[in-house]
Amino acid sequence: METTRPTSFDDPRIVALRATARRHVRERIEPHGAAWEEAGTTPHAVYRELGALGLLGHCHAAGFGGSDLGPIASVAFAEELSASSFGGVAEAVLIHTDMSSTHIGHRGSAAQKRRWLPGIVSGELICGIAVSEPEAGSDLAAMRTTARRGADGWVLNGVKTYATNAVHGDLMIVAARTDPDAKPSRGISLFIVERGTPGLQVRPMARKLGLHSSDIADMVFTDARLPEDALLGELHGGFPAIMQNFQDERLVLGAMAVGMGRKALELTLAHVKSRRAFGATLWNLQATRQRLAMLAARQQAVKALVHDTAVRVARGADCVREVSMVKALAGETVQDIMRDCLQLHGGAGYMSDCPLERLTRDARILTIGGGATEVMLEEVAKRLDKEAFQ
Ligand SMILES: Cc1cc2nc3c(=O)[nH]c(=O)nc-3n(C[C@H](O)[C@H](O)[C@H](O)COP(=O)(O)OP(=O)(O)OC[C@H]3O[C@@H](n4cnc5c(N)ncnc54)[C@H](O)[C@@H]3O)c2cc1C
Repeated sequence: METTRPTSFDDPRIVALRATARRHVRERIEPHGAAWEEAGTTPHAVYRELGALGLLGHCHAAGFGGSDLGPIASVAFAEELSASSFGGVAEAVLIHTDMSSTHIGHRGSAAQKRRWLPGIVSGELICGIAVSEPEAGSDLAAMRTTARRGADGWVLNGVKTYATNAVHGDLMIVAARTDPDAKPSRGISLFIVERGTPGLQVRPMARKLGLHSSDIADMVFTDARLPEDALLGELHGGFPAIMQNFQDERLVLGAMAVGMGRKALELTLAHVKSRRAFGATLWNLQATRQRLAMLAARQQAVKALVHDTAVRVARGADCVREVSMVKALAGETVQDIMRDCLQLHGGAGYMSDCPLERLTRDARILTIGGGATEVMLEEVAKRLDKEAFQ
């Protein structure tokens, strides 16, 4: 029987997914997150547990074990994971589900899908993506890593950077130039690179500001040998594929901001209602109430934009403008929420055993990764016309 993807957050399948994810976060992630932050990685068992609950397959077809629930599920899942207050876990898992393996689902051959997707959906395999380079971040067209045909496959040379999941992952989707003379939009291809590929060195990067429970590495390719069938999708078709995938990624990054903002506001409301100063609680101060009320309104507005955009995407609309608005507005608003919520926690908010301290550090990536705010605003500006305000 053919099933249709949900187009509403009230769809019973989404309500059930959210409830399952929320319970799992409370019972299996929150109690252990601090230890994973120390260890610098999200253990493989976390993926297997999420896979067993059917939470890793919303982007993939039922034939490979997925639920194929689509963008509404992506947003609901990202919100719940991010509301754990462990952004590193959310980052590691969402890159696997929504930002990398989606390339295999969208443009893999039948053989590639059969080989990789069941393990990705069950959590047996961990996936990541490596497009950024030391000289090519916002400007991906400047990428220099090359892939040329060798005797029995492909030979890669170059350096990828900031590759999340590269240290502990099993496969990475890697972009490289396959036609150095062509315009980047027509000369880049994607490859599936397995852990242990000869000629690939994975170099863990320095400790980062936040997201401590997700690993991150440089990937150095020196005449690295890939089999013929490592090519993913059309030869030279990588650039448009990356741009298309960015739409899913940016919506999910917006949902991460919503989840983190929700948690910060919940924690702060509880704090100001119990913390006493000047003979009453902080909540008794009008300035506190009004500050939180405005933050709550902004959080609600961002959530409404993220949900509205997810519904449009689920209905198949072209939403580059709205997705770019989501990424810019959600990423910036959550910074204000974190700053004010930390302020309302006083000294306690500055200490590393306070979730607000971690949330503030983790949320900082949301104006940078997956398209900096300024780059997103350019995408919006290019698409501003009278219709945009209707
Ligand atoms: C924790 C973390 C995880 C990451 N994970 C991955 C991953 O898994 N895979 C991957 O491929 N990459 C990953 N990245 C890379 C990330 O996507 C890039 O950092 C991001 O795209 C920005 O590129 P850049 O760092 O080179 O900044 P730059 O391109 O050097 O830009 C620096 C700043 O310049 C400004 N700027 C840039 N362009 C414009 C413009 N057009 N107009 C106005 N201002 C502008 C912005 O303020 C921007 O933040 C990760 C990065 C981090 C920090």
